[in-house]
Amino acid sequence: MEKKEYDLIIVGSGPGALSCAMYATRAGFSVLTLDRGMPGGQMAMTEWVDNYPGFPEGISGQELTERMLKHAQRFGAEQAYGNVAKIEDRGEDCFFNVHTDSGEVLKSSMVVIATGAQPRSLGLEGEKRLNGRGVSYCAICDGNFFKGKTVAVIGGGDAAVEEATYLSNIVDKVVLVHRRDELRASQVAQDVMTARENIEIAWNSQIENVLGDEKVEGIRIRNTKTDEKKVIDCEGVFFYVGIVPITEFVKDLVELDAQGFIVTNENMETSVCGIYAIGDVRRPMYRQIGTAVSDGIVAALNMDVAMHKKPPRVG
Ligand code: NAP
Repeated sequence: MEKKEYDLIIVGSGPGALSCAMYATRAGFSVLTLDRGMPGGQMAMTEWVDNYPGFPEGISGQELTERMLKHAQRFGAEQAYGNVAKIEDRGEDCFFNVHTDSGEVLKSSMVVIATGAQPRSLGLEGEKRLNGRGVSYCAICDGNFFKGKTVAVIGGGDAAVEEATYLSNIVDKVVLVHRRDELRASQVAQDVMTARENIEIAWNSQIENVLGDEKVEGIRIRNTKTDEKKVIDCEGVFFYVGIVPITEFVKDLVELDAQGFIVTNENMETSVCGIYAIGDVRRPMYRQIGTAVSDGIVAALNMDVAMHKKPPRVG
């Protein structure tokens, strides 16, 4: 990092964070985005983005990330690696110390929390034991290990259905295991998936465990209607059973709801003056790249209004 003091530090670097950084630097703020991983968050791990406006043919998540990053950098936004351990309210009017787990302390007038969410684990014994040995939460990262093999995908939401479709291009066969008899995913995602001949759906099926000694050899499922149990032989299991917000490091600072999401108002302001939250880390109605981008822009415009004492534009 070039400096130790910024107008704005954004924790995270997904689409909301990068849009916020772009708007805020363009408005004259010095901005640093800090991320403990690669830029782009979940967007960068999405094989193909089909519904982001302006890209009629679709665009890879990786390329969209690179474009958003370049756009923020063009106005002067800085990026750095950093795992934020604590945000300290300095008790003055909106000034914060941002502590990383390597002991670095950065000062900022405002902070945006854009840490997003991580895949939810079901906590099954075999899921934990065989994590990284056939159990995965990221098809784009690990799909290639299963070329020509059978994999199971757990879940019935957009992520499960889209990633099952992605995996069907690589593996021999995908078995989608869903606990109900209808999918939660959008109809368009379902239609694409059901057209694939090598995807089979195990309806009304709850995964009970992941089986195998050194690596995944199968999963045990239970039919939720009949209670019948059976084993599906597979070499990989991809869990897409929802997401949990990454808010542990701010749980004693800002107000969270019962599920751990950050509570904000429509301006993305949290319960602490000067701290904003955007994207999947708060509880929005929809979780899309476009809605995260919108959150980031709203937060940046509000900071601009607050810091430069401009009247908000109406109409
Ligand atoms: P999600 O929509 O919450 O779906 C989670 C799935 O996991 C549901 O089908 C749920 O079953 C199942 N599930 C939850 N707990 C389970 C358990 N204990 N045992 C078995 N199954 C369980 O999560 P997501 O698919 O990760 O998506 C997260 C958000 O991102 C959503 O808002 C989604 O729309 C959005 N997203 C959008 C896109 C896109 O637009 N292209 C792509 C990916 C994600 P039930 O259905 O029975 O509850």
